[in-house]
Amino acid sequence: MKRISSATIDEINKRVNMVEIVGEYTRLEQRGSNWWGCCPFHNEKTPSFNITPESNLFYCFGCGQSGSVITFIMEMEKLSFVEAVETLARKTGVEVIYEGTPDGTETPRDNTRELLMELYSRVAGSFHYILDKTPQGEKARRYLESRKVAPEIIEKFQLGFAPEDRRWLFQFLKKKDILPNFL
Ligand SMILES: [Zn+2]
Repeated sequence: MKRISSATIDEINKRVNMVEIVGEYTRLEQRGSNWWGCCPFHNEKTPSFNITPESNLFYCFGCGQSGSVITFIMEMEKLSFVEAVETLARKTGVEVIYEGTPDGTETPRDNTRELLMELYSRVAGSFHYILDKTPQGEKARRYLESRKVAPEIIEKFQLGFAPEDRRWLFQFLKKKDILPNFL
């Protein structure tokens, strides 16, 4: 198994224009600092697919798909992690550096950090959605209104509302095929 150096991935993340990459699959429009479009992962007529360009992350409020520019390409093109990074490297003109262990045997890349970052963005996105769009979040929305927290602030800091049910998050993430061990 080929292992790609983290410097290569950092360089891609620095150079990539996620809006341009995703724009090849769906039409995007800027609203505030984020970009919105109809989700390429599910059928919809009103845009609920959102990109945060500074972090190269996406989140769909409709179907819950979320991740980085790399996972986006993996899902869209049905590629492995390495193939997706190679594709993005070509598009951004980054040279891919592979790494092995000193004795020449190769080990799978440890992508725990990446998976954790994705998990966080997914959880934050879900709580934000509950606050913003569901009846459950109503009381919290009114509270924020009473504290004069502007909608742009709620959006910018991805403020969210966590349901009272303590098991909710675990059940929700298990349904998204995230292993209980990892959680
Ligand atoms: Zn979607």
